[in-house]
Amino acid sequence: LQGELGELVDLPATTTDGQRIRLLANTGLLADISPGIANGAEGVGLYRTEMPFMISETFPSEDDQEAIYRQVLSAYHGKPVYMRILDIGGDKPLPYFPIEEENPALGWRGIRFCLDNSSLLMTQIRAMLRAAGDAYDLRILLPMVGNTWEIDSFRSLLSDAIQQLSDEGFAIRRPPMGIMVEVPSAISMLSTWASRLDFISIGSNDLSQYLLALDRNNPRVAAAYDHLHPAVLRELARIAEHARQNELALSLCGEMASDPAAVIVLAGLGIRTLSMSASKIPRIKWLLRSISARDAEQLAEKALAMEHAFSIRDFLQAELRTRG
Ligand code: PEP
Ligand code: MG
Repeated sequence: LQGELGELVDLPATTTDGQRIRLLANTGLLADISPGIANGAEGVGLYRTEMPFMISETFPSEDDQEAIYRQVLSAYHGKPVYMRILDIGGDKPLPYFPIEEENPALGWRGIRFCLDNSSLLMTQIRAMLRAAGDAYDLRILLPMVGNTWEIDSFRSLLSDAIQQLSDEGFAIRRPPMGIMVEVPSAISMLSTWASRLDFISIGSNDLSQYLLALDRNNPRVAAAYDHLHPAVLRELARIAEHARQNELALSLCGEMASDPAAVIVLAGLGIRTLSMSASKIPRIKWLLRSISARDAEQLAEKALAMEHAFSIRDFLQAELRTRG
């Protein structure tokens, strides 16, 4: 199979009935760049900027960040790179900025942390804009958004950064911006927010954790965590519907994107951009090239009507077996 998968690198992920699905890479480390390209990633769907922050000894300067971001953007020249602003807190601690909280999953993390530290955020935005200049396809992604004002505050900082850099003589463009859909309250707000956003990307890891109120890193309850829980799938269907109605570009960048059983459902719900760790791309591409979007739609409909995560998984696994 390995050799066979290797031959797929230059082929598109197109279903047997002609639906094109874009497969992008999740990265955070410069070391991921060449495996991404080698596996045929069509861009970076999630660049986790906390990684360069985590391996640094202190908050990296604007120039340091710019240099790192530019390496990613230039490696993917002509392709989109979705850079997420710093998403620390929760399960992503920064060694030089400890946050002590009783309930970190519900605490000071993602955009909440960034907006409370606006000079740090401003430095990061400026570094991203400078790295992209007017040459690269930068898109900015906001983590853990749950409130309208978070989007508005970010947009206003983005405008300030653009103004500053233009005044300083930099040639820059205003990048498209969007949010991670991972805090459940975001789902009901999508129509309200649509005019402010250029795209949305489902963070299925956090979204499942918050919908199920289950910490998958806690061994006592991890067995009950399954992103194929019917409630998760039904919420994904709602998100896809909101995206369609509001003409919002939709992608998914959590672990589900690399779970073959889940990918059948995602394709069936009409999700046409998936981002995953690069090594998973060939296998998912192979699967998508073996299935029709129409079959996926019917399978998704059946899965959504089921009562248990395990029955959904069994059902989809059986389907995968029939496809080898
Ligand atoms: C997610 O929550 O699904 C996601 C992609 O982001 P992270 O895993 O970095 O929290
Ligand atoms: Mg997340």
